[in-house]
Amino acid sequence: MGKVAVGVAVIGTAAVVATAALLVRQRMRSSGRWARTRALVKEFEEKCGTPEAKLKQIADAMTVEMHAGLASEGGSKLKMLISFVDNLPTGDEEGVFYALDLGGSNFRVLRVELGGRKRGVVHQEFAEASIPPALMSASSDALFDYIAEKLAEFVADEERIYEQPSGKERELGFTFSFPVMQNSINSGTLIRWTKGFSIDDAVGQDVVAELTKALKRKGVDMRVAALINDTIGTLAGGRHSDPDVTMAVILGTGSNAAYVERAQAIPKWHGPLPKSGEMAINMEWGNFRSSHLPLTEYDYAMDTESLNPGEQIFEKLISGMYLGEILRRVLLSLAEEVWFFGDEIPAKLKIPYILRTPEMSAMHQDISSDLKVVDEKLKSILEISHTSLKKRRVVIELCNIIATRGARLAAAGILGVLKKTGKDTGKGNGEKTMIAMDGGLYEHYTEYRKCLENTVFELLGDTTKSSVVFEHFNDGSGIGAALLAASHSLYLEETS
Ligand code: ADP
Ligand code: MG
Repeated sequence: MGKVAVGVAVIGTAAVVATAALLVRQRMRSSGRWARTRALVKEFEEKCGTPEAKLKQIADAMTVEMHAGLASEGGSKLKMLISFVDNLPTGDEEGVFYALDLGGSNFRVLRVELGGRKRGVVHQEFAEASIPPALMSASSDALFDYIAEKLAEFVADEERIYEQPSGKERELGFTFSFPVMQNSINSGTLIRWTKGFSIDDAVGQDVVAELTKALKRKGVDMRVAALINDTIGTLAGGRHSDPDVTMAVILGTGSNAAYVERAQAIPKWHGPLPKSGEMAINMEWGNFRSSHLPLTEYDYAMDTESLNPGEQIFEKLISGMYLGEILRRVLLSLAEEVWFFGDEIPAKLKIPYILRTPEMSAMHQDISSDLKVVDEKLKSILEISHTSLKKRRVVIELCNIIATRGARLAAAGILGVLKKTGKDTGKGNGEKTMIAMDGGLYEHYTEYRKCLENTVFELLGDTTKSSVVFEHFNDGSGIGAALLAASHSLYLEETS
C-alpha cells in the first residue's frame, strides 16, 4: 500500500516536470510558429500584389485581347461574342413581357409591364427558385424541364393580375449567362458550362430550342423572342434608364462584362451594318488570361482541381464563387505548415468550397473589437474554436489580401474596356460614361466594391475620373431581357 503511494508520487513528480518541459518547448515553438505565420502571410501578400504599373499592363493586355477576339472567331481567349443586339432599348417599349434568368445558383422568372416612353416600367413581378445541385450535372432535358415547370407555375398564377390577349403568344427574353455562340437574336449554341454546371449533352446544343421543347412538353404557351446573357441584359436595362450607359459588369458567382462597340470595329461581323452603327458585345471576360496576372500556388491548385481546369482564370481571381475557396486554401496551408489552428488540422477545413464568399465578407467586415463575427464563423463553418484575437486578425488580413487583389484586377479589366472604347482619357466636354454594375458580390461585399471603384478612379487619374460613374442596377438583366423581348416581338407592327 505504502509502496504504491510512493510510486504514484514519483510518477506524479515526473509528470509535472515533463509537463513543464513541454510547456517551455511549446512556447518556444509557438513564437517560432508565429514568426513563420507572419512570413507566410507576407509572402502570400507579395505574390498577390497589384501595384498600379501591373494593373496598367493587365488593362493593356485586356485591350489587346479585345482587338484579337473581335478580329476573328477563336482569335483570343476572349470570345467577344456578338450579341445580335444592335438596338438597345430606347424607352418606347410597351406591353407585357416575360424574362427568365438562368446563370448561377438561382434562377428567376419575371413578368414586366412596359408602359412606353411616358410610363416606363409600370409593374414587375418575379418568382425565384434555386437549381437543385443534382440538376447542375444531370441532363439537358432534366434541367430545362425543371425550368419549364417553374415557368408553368408562374404563368398559371397570371390570371389574377393580367390577361394574355387571345391569339398572341406570350414572349420571353431568356437570360442565359454562360458562353453561347449566338446565331441570331433568338438562337445560340452553348460553348461550355461555367460556374459549377457540367451537363455534357447540352454543350453544342441550341439552348433556345432546348427551352422551347421543354416549354412544349410542359404545355406552356410561350415564344422565346430574345436570347441574351446577364451582362447584355444589364447593359440593356441600364441603357433604358440612362442613355450614358455603355458598359455593364457582373460580379456575382461568376464575372463577365459587356459593352457597346462600333460595328465597324468588329472585323469578324459579316452581317449588314446595323442602323445604329453599334453592336453590344458580350466579352466573356471571365476567360481572360495574361502572364501579368498575380497567380499563386493556391490559384494553380484550385484551378487544377476545378471542373474547368485552365479556363476562366480571370473569373477564378475575381468572382464570388472562388474568393472564399482561395481563403480556405490559404488557411489550410497555415494549419498544415504552422499548426495555425492547433495540433490537429480541422477536418472541415479540408472540404472544398465549404467557406463561401458571403461568409468571408462577413468576417472581413467584422468591426467588433473582439472580432466576434470571425470567431463565430470559424466555429459554425469550420468547427474551429478558441482562436486568439491575434489569429482572428490574421484571418481578416487574408480576406483583405484576397478581396483586394480581386477588386483591383476587376478594376484593371474595366480600364481595359474604357481604353478600347477611347473613354479612358477625359475629353473635358462633360461627357459621361456610365457603367452598369450588378451581381451579389458587387452588391453585398462593400469592401470589395469600394476598392474596385477607387482603383478605377486611381487608374484613370484626376482629369478623367469624374467622367466615369458606377451605377448599381439591381436585377437590371431581368428588365433588360424583357425589354429586348419587347423590341424583338413578333407583334411589333400591331402595337406600334
Ligand atoms: P448569380 O451570380 O449566381 O446569378 P448573384 O448575382 O445574386 O447570383 O450573386 C450571388 C453571388 O454573390 C454568390 O455566389 C456570392 O459569391 C456573392 N455574394 C452574395 N452575397 C454576398 C455577400 N454578402 N458578400 C460577398 N459575396 C456575396
Ligand atoms: Mg446573376
